[in-house]
Amino acid sequence: MIEVSHLTKDYGSHHAVCDLSFRVEEGQIYGLLGPNGAGKSTIMNIITGYLAPTSGSVSVAGHPLPEEASQAKCCVGYLPEQPPLYTDMTVQEYLEFVAQLKKVPRSERKNQVLRAQRRTGLEEVAPRLIRNLSKGYRQRVGIAQALLGSPKIVILDEPTVGLDPAQVIEIRRLIRELGRAHTVILSSHILSEVQAVCDQVLILSHGRLMAVGAPQELSAKLSAHGVLHVTALGSRETVLQAIRKVDQVSQATVDQENGQEITVTARSDSGADLRAAVSQALAQAGCTVLALSAETMSLEQVFLELTESDPAQELPQQEDSSGAENQTGISEQPAEEPSDEEAEENTAPPRAVDEIIAQVEAAFAPEPEKNSPPDDAEKED
Ligand code: ADP
Ligand code: MG
Repeated sequence: MIEVSHLTKDYGSHHAVCDLSFRVEEGQIYGLLGPNGAGKSTIMNIITGYLAPTSGSVSVAGHPLPEEASQAKCCVGYLPEQPPLYTDMTVQEYLEFVAQLKKVPRSERKNQVLRAQRRTGLEEVAPRLIRNLSKGYRQRVGIAQALLGSPKIVILDEPTVGLDPAQVIEIRRLIRELGRAHTVILSSHILSEVQAVCDQVLILSHGRLMAVGAPQELSAKLSAHGVLHVTALGSRETVLQAIRKVDQVSQATVDQENGQEITVTARSDSGADLRAAVSQALAQAGCTVLALSAETMSLEQVFLELTESDPAQELPQQEDSSGAENQTGISEQPAEEPSDEEAEENTAPPRAVDEIIAQVEAAFAPEPEKNSPPDDAEKED
């Protein structure tokens, strides 16, 4: 669907995106995950044809950019970081206007607008002025405009930023729905968001791709670090000796001794997966294995590890990037000063909001459809 090859984007001497290559397959939800300044918006602006790369190539649905930019743009619906909403229009007027801009044939326009409104839950607010809608509903309008023209690919830049937990849940649910009919790429600096919504995750740090894979795959791939906990029946010496005989084991220590039940932590400096070799060695020594588990890293740990170790610290001192680059956005509050409009939205640390969302989502999980009244039809301020 999308092929990105050796993509680089420089702003002056600053590499915002560096030699990036990846493929996006049809029908999946992809998450670009990375802290602020990682290059997510830059990549999206390039894929959607709004920004030219410094070098490298991009093709969208078989159309190379920039040569076939207009054909490529027809295949993509885009919700930029700052949705281009005309707030003095009603939802309906605005969507009809966008349909016209996207050259949706007149005969199809009404239908497409209705369908986009239905899919994004906007029917009830269609006659209302956008400026009177809450941020959650405005975001839906932004997503609805991206759906006009029936694009195969939908690209959403930080679609849940600035929303309250209930709105975040609604928008995530909506994105999952969209994933059934479209290839979706979204960006986020919130790990649990991509974990909850995406089939594939691309972890970015300072414009470089650090890892790609399904969320579970990523944590599995980077898990273990060759650390194994094993409980076996036998004498302390026999168990330890059997484990230490395994080639890849560089260290083995007893954690717990409970009669004949010995629990040992074994490590491999090379990061090898020790499970098979250790269980075989114990069996050969006549020690029954009662429990065996590789130490796994959560995706959160993986993300922290990947995004914290930066290979090339060449950050520009810009007003919008004052030290925020090293923030993961998942365990700490972003360091940058929020702008006036953002200030009210960023009152809670992302982590806290995220935990609330996770809890609420878990509570709502069994019946996802009906328990979601429009929570935010009115704007407070
Ligand atoms: P993200 O969306 O992941 O937060 P961006 O793609 O917006 O990251 O930015 C990546 C890097 O490029 C950041 O260091 C940012 O400061 C820089 N950058 C983005 N846009 C511009 C610009 N127009 N001029 C100069 N630097 C920019
Ligand atoms: Mg961005």
